[in-house]
Amino acid sequence: MSNENKKRGKLIVYTGCSGVGKGTIMEYLLKEFPELQFSVSATTRDPRPGEEHGVHYFFITHDEFNRMIENDEFLEHAVYCENQYGTPRKIVEDKLSEGINVILEIEVVGGTNVISRFPECVSIFILPPSIEELGRRLRKRGTEEEEVILKRLAQAEEEIKSAPLYKYQVINDKLEVAVDEVISILHKEFSE
Ligand code: 5GP
Repeated sequence: MSNENKKRGKLIVYTGCSGVGKGTIMEYLLKEFPELQFSVSATTRDPRPGEEHGVHYFFITHDEFNRMIENDEFLEHAVYCENQYGTPRKIVEDKLSEGINVILEIEVVGGTNVISRFPECVSIFILPPSIEELGRRLRKRGTEEEEVILKRLAQAEEEIKSAPLYKYQVINDKLEVAVDEVISILHKEFSE
């Protein structure tokens, strides 16, 4: 069947504030929906131990990133904690026209930009039960200094203001409950 006759894949925009557990929920989603494609972003940040180029991210320089912006190669891009992140446009568009569902795990500003450009996308915002609880989780994780934690909490408060723009808001209080909720959303959306 040619791509023109195929049903287009769905674009899923999946976001939430730092420390809310969206990466953990994502691992369950990819297991539940093995045919769902995770869009590999480009970033200027350094790889963390275990991260591979082309698998977790395309790790590129600021010059390369800026060249991609000039050539209009991003579906969206944003700066987060002094690094640039962007969704390569062509890979995503090709998959969607092949009928493949694609999920973008991106930060809130990028997510909100995608919603305004592609209002038909399925948008999901993962929320913490409260800012206080988010603070407790970030402190327990112990990977950031207090000053950084306070900055992230202030940023989270700002980001949460965009949650109503998303079609679905899921509170990650108990992980299993949040995972089930997101899985049900996607089953429903994929069956339509
Ligand atoms: P990290 O550096 O921890 O992997 O990611 C930092 C933040 O950037 C996370 O919220 C992640 O979802 C977001 N992010 C990853 N890729 C992209 C992207 O292509 N575009 C945008 N806007 N955010 C991204």
